[in-house]
Amino acid sequence: MSELDPRSDDLAVPDDWTYAPAPESREVVRLRERYGHFVGGSWLEPAETYETIAPRDEEALALVGQGTAADVDRAVQAARGAYADGWSALPGSERAKYLFRIARLLQERSREFAVLESLNGGKPIKESRDVDLPLAAAHFFYYGGWADKLEYAFPNRRPRPVGVAGQIIPWNFPLLMLAWKVAPALACGNTVVLKPAETTPLTALLFCDVLRQAELPPGVVNIVTGDGRTGATLVEHEGVDKIAFTGSTEVGKAIQRRLAGSGKKLTLELGGKAANVVFDDCALDQAVEGIVNGIYFNQGHVCCAGSRLFVQESIHEPLVEKLKRRLSTLRVGDPLDKNTDVGAINSRAQLEKIEELVASGREEGAEIYQPPCVLPERGYWFAPTVFTNVAQSYRIAQEEIFGPVLSILTFRTPDEAVEKANNTPYGLSAGVWTEKGSRILWMAQRLRAGVVWANTYNRFDPASPFGGYKESGFGREGGLHGLEPYLEFDE
Ligand code: NDP
Repeated sequence: MSELDPRSDDLAVPDDWTYAPAPESREVVRLRERYGHFVGGSWLEPAETYETIAPRDEEALALVGQGTAADVDRAVQAARGAYADGWSALPGSERAKYLFRIARLLQERSREFAVLESLNGGKPIKESRDVDLPLAAAHFFYYGGWADKLEYAFPNRRPRPVGVAGQIIPWNFPLLMLAWKVAPALACGNTVVLKPAETTPLTALLFCDVLRQAELPPGVVNIVTGDGRTGATLVEHEGVDKIAFTGSTEVGKAIQRRLAGSGKKLTLELGGKAANVVFDDCALDQAVEGIVNGIYFNQGHVCCAGSRLFVQESIHEPLVEKLKRRLSTLRVGDPLDKNTDVGAINSRAQLEKIEELVASGREEGAEIYQPPCVLPERGYWFAPTVFTNVAQSYRIAQEEIFGPVLSILTFRTPDEAVEKANNTPYGLSAGVWTEKGSRILWMAQRLRAGVVWANTYNRFDPASPFGGYKESGFGREGGLHGLEPYLEFDE
C-alpha cells in the first residue's frame, strides 16, 4: 500500500479459516492383489490368505498370507541356510554395505513407504513421512556403522552372531519396528524371520522389494505374515536361536513362559503407562505442546505414550484450560491429508478396547472432555480425550489404553510425584517438565523407567537405547546396547 492510498476499513476477511483438504496422492503406491510370504528371496504362495484393510474407511487393500507351520518352517530353514552359507562369516564391512544400501533405498522410496504406512495403519502422513521413515532409514545407517566395529564395541569379549532371530512386531510403528529389529540383527551377522502384525503387513512386504534391490543374499531376511498363531509357531520353532518381541505384556509373558528352559535368547518390549510430570516452574506453553505430542502422537498407539499426566496442584487449572484450548485445534481425519494431526484408530478391535476403557473412566467418576470435532462416518475413529478428576485406582490410570486418551492427576511435592509416577506395574518411559536442571536429575534418578525425557517427549534416536523395567519387558533396542541381544560372547 502506498502512502497516498486512502485507508480502508472494509478489507475482505474470510469468515472461515479452516484448512482446505491437502491429500497426499496414493498413486505412488502400487499394490498387488495378493501377497505371499517372502522366503529365501522369493515369494512363497500362501496356503491361506486374509484381507488387509485401510482403517480410515475399511477399504480392502490386498490379500495377504496367513502363515502356517509349514510356511514358518520353510522360512526358518531358509534363514538357517543363509546363516551357514556365508552371511555369518561375511566380514562386518561387507555386511555394512548391505545395511547402507537398504538405508539409502528407504530414503529414496520414502514417499511410497510413508503413503503405504498411513494407508494400512491409519497414522497421519506427516508422522509417517517425518518420523517413521527418516528414523527407519537412520536405524539402518546407524547399525551399518557398527557392523565392522563389534570387536571395538565389546573389547576382549569376542562377539559372535547368535544365529537365526525370530522377530515379532506390532502394528503401531510397522516399518520402524521392523528397522529396530532387522538392522541390529544383520549388523551382528544373524539372519532373520520376521512376522509383522496382522493388521499392518504391507510396508514389511514392500520392504522385501528393497531387499531385492539391495541384492541382499536370499534367506538373510524372511518375512512371514499372519496373525498371532503364526507368531506362536515362530516362537516355538526349534531352529530359532533368539526371539525379539514387541507387543502387549500379556503375549510377552506367554512367550517368556513358553521359552523358559529352551535356551533361546529373548528380549521383550512390552506395554507402558508412562507418567508425564509437570512442575509449576515449567514453561507452560511448551509443556502443553509436549503433553499433546506425548499422548496424541500416532493416536496414542505408542507404548511409551505419556498417558498419565501428573500436574503440580498450583498450575492444574491454567494447564487444563490451555490444554483444552490446544485440543480444539487438533485436526482429526484422513490420515493421507497433510494437515491431519490425529488419524484413524488402527483396527476395530483396538477401537472397542479404547471405548470400553473410556466408558469405565466415566463410570468410575472421572470427568471427560472431548473437543468438538466431526468424525468421519466410515472407518475407525476416536476423538482426542482428556480425563480430569482421576484417582490412581481407576482403570484409566492403571491400564494401557493405547489410544488418544489422557488421564490427569495432581501432586504437591516432588516426592509425591515420584511415588505416584512409579505406582504402576510398567516402567518404560516418563517425562519431566521443569526449568531446574537439578530437579530433572533428581527425578530421573528416582523414576523407574527405561527412558526419561526432560522438557520434551517422544524423542527417538537410533543411538539411544530404548526399553523397559518391570512389566514393560527387558533388553534394550537402539544404541550400543541394542547390539548385545544379537551377540554371543566369550565370558
Ligand atoms: P499383541 O501383543 O497381540 O501383538 C503383538 C505382535 O505379537 C503381533 O505381531 C501379534 O500378531 C503377535 N502375537 C499375538 N499373539 C501371539 C502369540 N501367542 N505368540 C507370538 N506372537 C503373537 O498386541 P495386540 O495387537 O493384540 O494389541 C493389544 C494391546 O497390546 C494393545 O491394546 C496395547 O495395549 C498393547 N500393545 C502394546 C504395544 C507396544 O509397543 N508395547 C504394541 C501393540 C500392542 P497379530 O497382530 O496377528 O495378533
